[in-house]
Amino acid sequence: MSDIRVSAWGETELGAVGRVLEVMRAPAAVLSRPADDVDPTDPGTLQLAADLVATMRVSPGCVGLAAPQVSVGRRVFCVDVAAHPRTRTSHGTFVLCNAEVVASTRREKAREGCLSVPDLTGEVKRATRLVVRGQLPGTGEEVVVTTDAFEARALQHEIDHCAGLLFLDRVADAHAIHARKTYLA
Ligand SMILES: [Zn+2]
Repeated sequence: MSDIRVSAWGETELGAVGRVLEVMRAPAAVLSRPADDVDPTDPGTLQLAADLVATMRVSPGCVGLAAPQVSVGRRVFCVDVAAHPRTRTSHGTFVLCNAEVVASTRREKAREGCLSVPDLTGEVKRATRLVVRGQLPGTGEEVVVTTDAFEARALQHEIDHCAGLLFLDRVADAHAIHARKTYLA
């Protein structure tokens, strides 16, 4: 198990070209159902991974996308926080299957948003030091990702999607939810 080989997602190298899929918005039922485990070596999983990355890349400000958001009830998500100002550690663009939190410490409250909840943001308490275990699509290689700060937040947000949870389910109360004042182009 390693940390390094998570990085460098290469669609062409893996032979799957991503398609841009429609992103579901709350209260779509698929967003609130726990997703199923997935076989990371299934060619369909590799295609799904490529589709998630392609859809994330065309969505302004998007730092992660989970399969339930594109109507697929499987435990797969992609993350890329490299360009975000709140990022410290970044593993670049990567996709994890069947990911689970192994260790988490130092919880901190911060504002987050979601493509599936486009009009709101919320203050959510998340661990800022995180260890996550999962499998890479294609090879099925088991990997461990150790990260912090904004990438840790993004990972917890996507793992939540795979469990049927939105950030709205994590906010302390209604005062912690805000209307989005500005929109990205
Ligand atoms: Zn989200």
